[in-house]
Amino acid sequence: MRGTALPALSGHPIEFDSYVFDLDGTIYLGEALLPGAERLVEGLRDRGKRVVFCSNNPTKRPEDYAEKLTRLGLSTDPSDVYTSLTATVSWISRMMPEATVFPIGEEPLVMALAEAGIAMSDDPERVDLVVTSYDRGFEYRKLQIAFDALWFHKRARLVTTNPDRFCPFPGGRGEPDAACITAAVTAGTGVECEAVFGKPSKDLLDIISAETGLDPATSVMVGDRLATDILFAHNTGMCSALVLTGEADLDQLSAAPEEQRPTWVLERIDDLLDYDRVSA
Ligand SMILES: [Mg+2]
Repeated sequence: MRGTALPALSGHPIEFDSYVFDLDGTIYLGEALLPGAERLVEGLRDRGKRVVFCSNNPTKRPEDYAEKLTRLGLSTDPSDVYTSLTATVSWISRMMPEATVFPIGEEPLVMALAEAGIAMSDDPERVDLVVTSYDRGFEYRKLQIAFDALWFHKRARLVTTNPDRFCPFPGGRGEPDAACITAAVTAGTGVECEAVFGKPSKDLLDIISAETGLDPATSVMVGDRLATDILFAHNTGMCSALVLTGEADLDQLSAAPEEQRPTWVLERIDDLLDYDRVSA
């Protein structure tokens, strides 16, 4: 499969202007950069390309990611990092600016809502919007508040920061992610999510484009997940490269629907620089 170009090719993968990289499973795994990540990012920057990092993980702020990337050897400014929290806060500010929110999430979500001036409460009689998220402090009390707001008082709406089932860890392990929390709330209330932020939602790329000037037609999305990263590229009109260092494997790829099929497949991320050699 390595080097097998799928249909709708638009030239060599380093001929584009901008590169959007997923983080977990793509740039690093746990506390280590994946092989070739430093060479690739430095190679792209040396060629004057725009490099942006984009994670669905809502448990860290852009500042945290920039610090981690810099510590691992990829000097990064927080303004080059976007997370699902960016899109979540933007949507609430535009669509429900007066809403009182009950976040089921970690401190970065609460801080992002507070910084945007969004009201929060754990009183189900006052909650207009329940926001589920990746929450390692999830507990029955939170589930009860969401249940009361959504099912008993029938006044709240339900959205989630990101659609991911788990966050990949080294050694094939992982941590349950936001989809597990959303499923628990939906199972009890029968209320489905109205909006799912982060990749593959186009909202996140609209924000990145507005802030950086990135044009999807001259951009490549690089990631390890078909249903988020590669579908995100499809939904936004970007070409895409799937790297086989995280969740997706060739079995998943061969079973994927058309909209989750990448433009290029890479065994390691810096194959992007040498795609002609790889495909020879
Ligand atoms: Mg990933």
